[in-house]
Amino acid sequence: MGVIAVLAFHEPERVRLSLEALYLMSLAAIMFFVCLMCGYISKIRSDLASAVTRIGELAHHDPLTGLFNRRNLMERLEIEIARCDRQMRRGITLCMIDLDHFKRINDTFGHPVGDEVLIGVGKCLANSIRVIDYVARYGGEEFIILLEADSDDLAFVMCERIRAEVGKLEIPAIQELSINVSIGMASFAKGESSAKLIERADKALYLAKANGRNCVRAAPLS
Ligand code: GH3
Ligand code: MG
Ligand code: MG
Repeated sequence: MGVIAVLAFHEPERVRLSLEALYLMSLAAIMFFVCLMCGYISKIRSDLASAVTRIGELAHHDPLTGLFNRRNLMERLEIEIARCDRQMRRGITLCMIDLDHFKRINDTFGHPVGDEVLIGVGKCLANSIRVIDYVARYGGEEFIILLEADSDDLAFVMCERIRAEVGKLEIPAIQELSINVSIGMASFAKGESSAKLIERADKALYLAKANGRNCVRAAPLS
């Protein structure tokens, strides 16, 4: 624009102002359009980044309770098993937790209240463990906790404490009814697969249910 002004002053015959004005207006319009496109592209990029984060969250979390889901659990379990196989200094205990008579809660108070109970139990479990431990919703009314523990006895004490914490839960929608959980626990044995560890905890849970609903340790790996 400065060049055009200088030229128009010194050599007016070489400058056709109407044409230059047209060029300038076109240039301004193009610049405006480019700025608009840049803003639009940066918004799309930020929306895309949020969507990718959200998809990542959904892939690893249970939408109802917000806890980790089964997929994340299986990944975490493999990592923990690999760690224990390398250096067994601190072992791992898998606790399979099942709500007792949960179907009755659904049948008596309805599914939305059942959902509320699952959310409440999920929160309670997450608050009852240490930061080094891990909790996931395994499916339905079953949760799995991975406890880092030096001994089977310590893991058992922790499970009993978790059971007591859930027992204290108060959910107004189910009135005076208390929520109880049964727990089957299995401590990892070197060389054991994740499937075998889950299977042993599941069998212990079955015994816990059969024995009057409490906490049962799995038999050692044969
Ligand atoms: P037990 O004491 O032997 O464990 O019996 P239970 O009633 O707890 O277990 P059962 O397997 O008979 O019933 C589990 C019920 O959990 C059945 C199913 O409809 C319900 N359920 C599973 N997932 C959900 C959910 O996300 N929300 C609600 N509200 N109910 C669920
Ligand atoms: Mg069950
Ligand atoms: Mg149950």
